[in-house]
Amino acid sequence: MKKMTKMIHGGQTVDELTGAVNPPIYQTSTYKQDGLGVLRNGYEYSRSKNPTRTALEGLIADLEEGQAGFAFGSGMAAVTAVAMLVDSGDHIVVGSDVYGGTFRVFTQVLDRIGIHSTFVDTRDENAVKQAIQDNTKMLYLETPTNPLLNVTNIKAMVNIAKENHLISVVDNTFMTPYFQNPLKLGADIVLHSATKYIGGHSDVVAGLVVTNKVDLTERIEFTQNSTGGVLGPQDSYLLVRGIKTLAIRMEQTEKSSLKIVDYLANHEKVTKVYHPSLLDQESKAIHEAQASGYGGMISFDVGSSENAKKLVEHFEVFTLAESLGAVESLVCVPSEMTHASIPRERRLEIGITDGLVRISVGIEDVEDLLNDLEQALNTI
Ligand SMILES: *Cc1c(COP(=O)(O)O)cnc(C)c1O
Repeated sequence: MKKMTKMIHGGQTVDELTGAVNPPIYQTSTYKQDGLGVLRNGYEYSRSKNPTRTALEGLIADLEEGQAGFAFGSGMAAVTAVAMLVDSGDHIVVGSDVYGGTFRVFTQVLDRIGIHSTFVDTRDENAVKQAIQDNTKMLYLETPTNPLLNVTNIKAMVNIAKENHLISVVDNTFMTPYFQNPLKLGADIVLHSATKYIGGHSDVVAGLVVTNKVDLTERIEFTQNSTGGVLGPQDSYLLVRGIKTLAIRMEQTEKSSLKIVDYLANHEKVTKVYHPSLLDQESKAIHEAQASGYGGMISFDVGSSENAKKLVEHFEVFTLAESLGAVESLVCVPSEMTHASIPRERRLEIGITDGLVRISVGIEDVEDLLNDLEQALNTI
Protein backbone atom coordinates (compact mmCIF):
# COMPACT_ATOMS: atom_id res chain seq x y z
CA MET A 1 0.00 0.00 0.00
CA LYS A 2 1.16 3.53 -0.76
CA LYS A 3 1.47 6.05 2.07
CA MET A 4 -1.69 8.00 1.31
CA THR A 5 -3.73 4.79 1.23
CA LYS A 6 -2.17 3.53 4.46
CA MET A 7 -3.23 6.74 6.24
CA ILE A 8 -6.84 5.72 5.58
CA HIS A 9 -6.67 1.93 5.83
CA GLY A 10 -3.55 1.07 7.86
CA GLY A 11 -3.78 -1.15 10.91
CA GLN A 12 -7.53 -1.39 10.74
CA THR A 13 -10.08 -4.03 10.20
CA VAL A 14 -13.74 -3.28 9.70
CA ASP A 15 -15.71 -3.81 12.95
CA GLU A 16 -16.75 -7.45 13.02
CA LEU A 17 -20.00 -6.90 14.87
CA THR A 18 -21.55 -4.18 12.68
CA GLY A 19 -19.28 -3.49 9.74
CA ALA A 20 -18.71 0.07 11.02
CA VAL A 21 -15.99 1.62 8.86
CA ASN A 22 -14.51 3.52 11.80
CA PRO A 23 -13.11 1.91 14.95
CA PRO A 24 -15.83 2.07 17.62
CA ILE A 25 -14.95 4.04 20.75
CA TYR A 26 -14.79 1.29 23.36
CA GLN A 27 -15.57 3.36 26.44
CA THR A 28 -14.87 0.53 28.84
CA SER A 29 -12.32 -0.11 31.55
CA THR A 30 -12.85 -3.85 31.78
CA TYR A 31 -14.06 -6.90 29.81
CA LYS A 32 -16.27 -9.83 30.81
CA GLN A 33 -14.36 -13.11 31.00
CA ASP A 34 -16.10 -16.15 29.52
CA GLY A 35 -14.59 -18.33 32.23
CA LEU A 36 -11.86 -17.75 34.76
CA GLY A 37 -9.01 -16.29 32.73
CA VAL A 38 -10.84 -16.95 29.44
CA LEU A 39 -10.50 -13.65 27.58
CA ARG A 40 -12.03 -12.55 24.28
CA ASN A 41 -9.19 -11.62 21.93
CA GLY A 42 -6.86 -10.90 24.84
CA TYR A 43 -8.89 -8.02 26.28
CA GLU A 44 -8.79 -8.02 30.07
CA TYR A 45 -8.45 -4.44 31.37
CA SER A 46 -8.10 -1.19 29.39
CA ARG A 47 -4.75 -0.12 30.83
CA SER A 48 -3.32 -3.24 29.19
CA LYS A 49 -5.38 -3.18 26.02
CA ASN A 50 -8.39 -1.33 24.57
CA PRO A 51 -9.71 -2.01 21.05
CA THR A 52 -9.85 1.67 20.02
CA ARG A 53 -6.28 2.13 21.18
CA THR A 54 -5.32 -1.13 19.42
CA ALA A 55 -6.67 0.30 16.14
CA LEU A 56 -4.51 3.42 16.56
CA GLU A 57 -1.44 1.44 17.62
CA GLY A 58 -1.75 -0.82 14.58
CA LEU A 59 -2.15 2.20 12.32
CA ILE A 60 0.95 4.04 13.55
CA ALA A 61 2.99 0.81 13.39
CA ASP A 62 1.93 0.46 9.73
CA LEU A 63 2.73 4.08 8.93
CA GLU A 64 6.21 3.88 10.46
CA GLU A 65 6.74 0.38 9.06
CA GLY A 66 7.57 -0.99 12.50
CA GLN A 67 6.68 -4.03 14.53
CA ALA A 68 4.34 -2.58 17.12
CA GLY A 69 2.83 0.75 18.11
CA PHE A 70 2.06 2.13 21.57
CA ALA A 71 -0.19 5.07 22.45
CA PHE A 72 0.50 7.21 25.50
CA GLY A 73 -1.30 10.04 27.28
CA SER A 74 1.22 12.62 26.00
CA GLY A 75 4.41 12.93 24.00
CA MET A 76 6.31 13.29 27.28
CA ALA A 77 4.80 10.05 28.63
CA ALA A 78 6.06 8.38 25.44
CA VAL A 79 9.56 9.90 25.84
CA THR A 80 9.67 8.81 29.48
CA ALA A 81 8.55 5.25 28.72
CA VAL A 82 11.29 4.97 26.09
CA ALA A 83 13.97 6.39 28.41
CA MET A 84 12.93 3.82 31.02
CA LEU A 85 14.32 1.10 28.76
CA VAL A 86 17.64 1.86 30.42
CA ASP A 87 18.55 1.30 34.07
CA SER A 88 19.64 3.50 36.91
CA GLY A 89 23.38 4.08 36.48
CA ASP A 90 23.08 4.06 32.68
CA HIS A 91 23.78 7.00 30.42
CA ILE A 92 22.00 8.44 27.39
CA VAL A 93 23.45 10.67 24.66
CA VAL A 94 20.80 13.23 23.69
CA GLY A 95 20.66 15.77 20.84
CA SER A 96 21.52 19.26 22.06
CA ASP A 97 18.46 21.11 20.84
CA VAL A 98 15.70 18.62 21.59
CA TYR A 99 12.25 19.80 22.65
CA GLY A 100 12.36 21.80 25.91
CA GLY A 101 10.21 19.32 27.82
CA THR A 102 12.49 16.49 26.71
CA PHE A 103 15.52 18.41 28.02
CA ARG A 104 13.62 18.95 31.29
CA VAL A 105 12.66 15.30 31.83
CA PHE A 106 16.23 14.15 31.14
CA THR A 107 17.89 16.76 33.36
CA GLN A 108 15.39 17.15 36.19
CA VAL A 109 13.52 13.84 36.46
CA LEU A 110 15.53 10.97 34.99
CA ASP A 111 18.82 12.38 36.25
CA ARG A 112 17.47 12.27 39.83
CA ILE A 113 16.82 8.54 39.54
CA GLY A 114 20.29 7.85 38.18
CA ILE A 115 19.67 7.93 34.41
CA HIS A 116 22.24 10.48 33.33
CA SER A 117 22.55 12.20 29.97
CA THR A 118 24.99 14.21 27.91
CA PHE A 119 23.69 16.69 25.33
CA VAL A 120 25.60 16.92 22.08
CA ASP A 121 25.11 18.36 18.63
CA THR A 122 24.09 15.25 16.68
CA ARG A 123 25.20 16.90 13.42
CA ASP A 124 28.75 16.30 14.66
CA GLU A 125 29.57 12.58 14.44
CA ASN A 126 32.83 12.93 16.34
CA ALA A 127 31.19 14.82 19.18
CA VAL A 128 28.60 12.04 19.46
CA LYS A 129 31.30 9.34 19.49
CA GLN A 130 33.24 11.24 22.16
CA ALA A 131 30.14 11.60 24.35
CA ILE A 132 29.66 7.83 24.49
CA GLN A 133 30.76 6.34 27.83
CA ASP A 134 31.11 2.76 29.04
CA ASN A 135 27.62 2.97 30.55
CA THR A 136 25.92 4.64 27.56
CA LYS A 137 22.89 2.63 26.44
CA MET A 138 20.86 4.95 24.23
CA LEU A 139 21.21 7.62 21.56
CA TYR A 140 18.23 9.97 21.40
CA LEU A 141 17.69 12.61 18.72
CA GLU A 142 15.30 14.81 16.77
CA THR A 143 15.64 15.85 13.15
CA PRO A 144 14.93 18.50 12.07
CA THR A 145 15.23 20.06 15.52
CA ASN A 146 12.91 22.40 17.31
CA PRO A 147 13.05 25.39 16.86
CA LEU A 148 16.19 25.80 14.72
CA LEU A 149 15.41 23.03 12.21
CA ASN A 150 18.92 21.62 12.22
CA VAL A 151 19.24 18.33 10.40
CA THR A 152 20.98 15.22 11.67
CA ASN A 153 22.00 12.31 9.47
CA ILE A 154 19.84 9.50 10.86
CA LYS A 155 21.79 6.71 9.13
CA ALA A 156 25.11 7.99 10.46
CA MET A 157 23.69 8.08 13.99
CA VAL A 158 22.18 4.60 13.60
CA ASN A 159 25.62 3.32 12.59
CA ILE A 160 27.28 4.86 15.64
CA ALA A 161 24.52 3.39 17.83
CA LYS A 162 24.99 -0.07 16.30
CA GLU A 163 28.77 0.00 16.72
CA ASN A 164 28.34 0.88 20.39
CA HIS A 165 25.31 -1.34 21.15
CA LEU A 166 23.06 1.63 21.88
CA ILE A 167 19.31 1.77 21.37
CA SER A 168 18.70 4.45 18.72
CA VAL A 169 15.63 6.63 19.20
CA VAL A 170 14.30 9.31 16.84
CA ASP A 171 11.61 11.83 17.78
CA ASN A 172 9.83 12.17 14.42
CA THR A 173 7.22 14.74 15.50
CA PHE A 174 8.26 17.44 13.01
CA MET A 175 8.40 15.30 9.87
CA THR A 176 5.58 12.85 10.68
CA PRO A 177 5.51 9.35 9.15
CA TYR A 178 4.32 10.98 5.93
CA PHE A 179 7.67 12.67 5.24
CA GLN A 180 10.19 10.57 7.16
CA ASN A 181 10.44 6.99 8.46
CA PRO A 182 13.45 6.58 10.81
CA LEU A 183 12.86 2.84 11.31
CA LYS A 184 13.44 2.30 7.59
CA LEU A 185 16.79 4.05 8.06
CA GLY A 186 17.72 1.57 10.77
CA ALA A 187 16.56 3.26 13.98
CA ASP A 188 15.26 1.00 16.76
CA ILE A 189 12.49 3.25 18.01
CA VAL A 190 10.55 6.18 16.61
CA LEU A 191 8.32 8.37 18.73
CA HIS A 192 5.89 11.23 18.23
CA SER A 193 4.16 13.92 20.14
CA ALA A 194 0.86 13.04 18.44
CA THR A 195 -0.48 16.27 19.96
CA LYS A 196 1.06 17.94 16.93
CA TYR A 197 0.65 16.91 13.26
CA ILE A 198 -0.74 13.44 13.86
CA GLY A 199 -3.74 14.72 15.81
CA GLY A 200 -3.58 17.84 13.69
CA HIS A 201 -6.51 19.79 15.16
CA SER A 202 -5.26 21.08 18.54
CA ASP A 203 -7.78 18.92 20.36
CA VAL A 204 -5.76 16.00 21.78
CA VAL A 205 -2.61 15.57 23.88
CA ALA A 206 -1.00 12.22 23.04
CA GLY A 207 2.23 10.38 22.36
CA LEU A 208 3.08 7.43 20.11
CA VAL A 209 5.98 4.98 20.09
CA VAL A 210 6.83 2.44 17.37
CA THR A 211 9.41 -0.30 17.90
CA ASN A 212 11.30 -2.44 15.46
CA LYS A 213 12.84 -5.21 17.59
CA VAL A 214 11.15 -8.01 19.52
CA ASP A 215 12.87 -7.37 22.84
CA LEU A 216 12.20 -3.61 22.70
CA THR A 217 8.56 -4.26 21.77
CA GLU A 218 8.13 -6.51 24.80
CA ARG A 219 9.84 -4.08 27.13
CA ILE A 220 7.85 -1.04 25.96
CA GLU A 221 4.64 -3.04 26.25
CA PHE A 222 5.60 -4.03 29.79
CA THR A 223 6.50 -0.43 30.73
CA GLN A 224 3.30 0.96 29.17
CA ASN A 225 1.15 -1.45 31.17
CA SER A 226 3.21 -1.16 34.36
CA THR A 227 3.52 2.63 34.54
CA GLY A 228 0.09 3.17 32.98
CA GLY A 229 0.45 6.38 30.97
CA VAL A 230 -1.96 5.09 28.32
CA LEU A 231 -4.15 7.03 25.90
CA GLY A 232 -7.91 6.80 26.42
CA PRO A 233 -10.35 5.49 23.79
CA GLN A 234 -11.87 8.87 22.83
CA ASP A 235 -8.46 10.39 22.18
CA SER A 236 -7.30 7.25 20.36
CA TYR A 237 -10.29 7.64 18.04
CA LEU A 238 -9.49 11.32 17.42
CA LEU A 239 -5.96 10.40 16.37
CA VAL A 240 -7.19 7.73 13.95
CA ARG A 241 -9.49 10.37 12.49
CA GLY A 242 -6.70 12.97 12.38
CA ILE A 243 -4.34 10.63 10.55
CA LYS A 244 -6.85 10.18 7.71
CA THR A 245 -6.01 13.71 6.54
CA LEU A 246 -2.34 13.74 7.56
CA ALA A 247 -1.07 13.37 3.99
CA ILE A 248 -3.10 16.24 2.55
CA ARG A 249 -2.42 18.44 5.56
CA MET A 250 1.34 17.87 5.22
CA GLU A 251 1.24 18.58 1.48
CA GLN A 252 -0.65 21.84 2.06
CA THR A 253 1.46 23.09 4.96
CA GLU A 254 4.62 22.44 2.99
CA LYS A 255 3.33 24.26 -0.09
CA SER A 256 2.37 27.32 1.95
CA SER A 257 5.59 27.18 4.00
CA LEU A 258 7.78 27.47 0.93
CA LYS A 259 5.94 30.68 -0.08
CA ILE A 260 6.25 32.07 3.44
CA VAL A 261 9.96 31.22 3.64
CA ASP A 262 10.48 33.06 0.38
CA TYR A 263 8.62 36.10 1.72
CA LEU A 264 10.45 36.17 5.08
CA ALA A 265 13.89 35.68 3.53
CA ASN A 266 13.37 38.92 1.61
CA HIS A 267 11.94 41.00 4.45
CA GLU A 268 14.14 43.75 5.89
CA LYS A 269 12.89 43.31 9.49
CA VAL A 270 13.88 39.63 9.45
CA THR A 271 17.56 38.99 10.18
CA LYS A 272 17.54 35.22 9.68
CA VAL A 273 15.15 32.49 8.54
CA TYR A 274 15.37 28.83 9.56
CA HIS A 275 13.75 26.14 7.38
CA PRO A 276 15.11 22.84 6.06
CA SER A 277 14.95 24.25 2.51
CA LEU A 278 17.44 26.98 3.49
CA LEU A 279 20.12 24.71 4.96
CA ASP A 280 23.65 24.65 3.61
CA GLN A 281 24.17 22.26 0.70
CA GLU A 282 25.47 19.36 2.78
CA SER A 283 22.72 19.43 5.42
CA LYS A 284 20.06 19.96 2.80
CA ALA A 285 21.30 16.93 0.88
CA ILE A 286 21.17 14.85 4.07
CA HIS A 287 17.62 15.97 4.74
CA GLU A 288 16.49 15.32 1.19
CA ALA A 289 17.98 11.84 1.26
CA GLN A 290 16.15 10.84 4.43
CA ALA A 291 12.88 12.78 4.16
CA SER A 292 10.46 13.39 1.30
CA GLY A 293 9.46 16.92 2.37
CA TYR A 294 10.50 19.97 4.37
CA GLY A 295 7.46 20.19 6.62
CA GLY A 296 5.62 23.23 7.87
CA MET A 297 7.78 24.68 10.64
CA ILE A 298 9.63 27.96 10.14
CA SER A 299 11.64 30.01 12.63
CA PHE A 300 12.91 33.53 12.04
CA ASP A 301 14.78 36.18 13.95
CA VAL A 302 13.44 39.70 14.37
CA GLY A 303 16.46 40.92 16.33
CA SER A 304 15.20 41.47 19.87
CA SER A 305 12.70 40.29 22.43
CA GLU A 306 10.87 43.66 22.09
CA ASN A 307 10.41 43.09 18.36
CA ALA A 308 9.31 39.51 18.91
CA LYS A 309 6.76 40.59 21.51
CA LYS A 310 5.37 43.35 19.26
CA LEU A 311 5.12 41.02 16.30
CA VAL A 312 3.33 38.15 18.01
CA GLU A 313 0.86 40.47 19.73
CA HIS A 314 -0.26 41.96 16.41
CA PHE A 315 -1.16 38.82 14.50
CA GLU A 316 -4.79 38.44 13.46
CA VAL A 317 -4.74 35.05 11.71
CA PHE A 318 -1.74 33.37 13.39
CA THR A 319 -2.68 32.33 16.94
CA LEU A 320 -0.17 33.04 19.71
CA ALA A 321 0.02 29.66 21.43
CA GLU A 322 2.27 26.82 22.42
CA SER A 323 2.17 23.71 20.24
CA LEU A 324 2.39 23.21 16.49
CA GLY A 325 1.25 21.01 13.66
CA ALA A 326 -2.41 21.96 13.60
CA VAL A 327 -4.82 23.06 10.86
CA GLU A 328 -4.63 26.60 12.26
CA SER A 329 -1.40 28.57 12.02
CA LEU A 330 0.32 29.06 15.37
CA VAL A 331 3.12 31.35 16.46
CA CYS A 332 5.34 31.29 19.52
CA VAL A 333 8.46 32.88 20.98
CA PRO A 334 10.55 29.83 21.97
CA SER A 335 12.68 31.69 24.58
CA GLU A 336 9.55 32.71 26.50
CA MET A 337 7.33 29.73 25.79
CA THR A 338 8.29 26.28 24.48
CA HIS A 339 11.96 26.53 25.49
CA ALA A 340 11.64 28.62 28.67
CA SER A 341 12.62 25.56 30.73
CA ILE A 342 16.13 25.72 29.23
CA PRO A 343 18.42 28.21 31.05
CA ARG A 344 18.99 31.40 29.00
CA GLU A 345 22.75 30.92 28.81
CA ARG A 346 22.27 27.47 27.32
CA ARG A 347 19.58 28.72 24.95
CA LEU A 348 21.93 31.37 23.54
CA GLU A 349 24.71 28.79 23.25
CA ILE A 350 22.57 26.66 20.93
CA GLY A 351 21.22 29.66 19.02
CA ILE A 352 17.76 30.21 20.48
CA THR A 353 17.92 34.00 20.68
CA ASP A 354 15.39 36.24 22.42
CA GLY A 355 14.23 37.59 19.05
CA LEU A 356 13.51 34.17 17.60
CA VAL A 357 9.92 33.56 16.50
CA ARG A 358 8.61 30.15 15.47
CA ILE A 359 5.61 29.62 13.25
CA SER A 360 3.68 26.48 12.50
CA VAL A 361 2.02 27.01 9.14
CA GLY A 362 -1.60 25.83 9.08
CA ILE A 363 -3.81 25.09 6.11
CA GLU A 364 -5.55 28.47 5.81
CA ASP A 365 -5.26 30.33 2.48
CA VAL A 366 -1.60 31.30 2.20
CA GLU A 367 -2.53 34.81 0.97
CA ASP A 368 -4.18 35.50 4.33
CA LEU A 369 -1.10 34.21 6.15
CA LEU A 370 1.24 36.38 4.07
CA ASN A 371 -0.96 39.46 4.61
CA ASP A 372 -1.01 38.78 8.34
CA LEU A 373 2.79 38.50 8.45
CA GLU A 374 3.06 41.72 6.46
CA GLN A 375 0.84 43.79 8.74
CA ALA A 376 2.38 42.36 11.92
CA LEU A 377 5.97 42.88 10.71
CA ASN A 378 5.04 46.49 9.86
CA THR A 379 4.37 47.17 13.55
CA ILE A 380 8.04 46.57 14.41
C1 LIG B 1 5.52 18.71 21.87
C2 LIG B 1 6.69 17.88 21.68
C3 LIG B 1 7.01 16.86 22.58
C4 LIG B 1 6.20 16.62 23.85
O1 LIG B 1 4.92 16.16 23.55
P1 LIG B 1 3.61 16.46 24.44
O2 LIG B 1 2.52 15.81 23.65
O3 LIG B 1 3.47 17.94 24.56
O4 LIG B 1 3.82 15.83 25.77
C5 LIG B 1 8.13 16.07 22.31
N1 LIG B 1 8.89 16.27 21.20
C6 LIG B 1 8.61 17.26 20.32
C7 LIG B 1 9.48 17.44 19.12
C8 LIG B 1 7.50 18.09 20.52
O5 LIG B 1 7.25 19.06 19.64
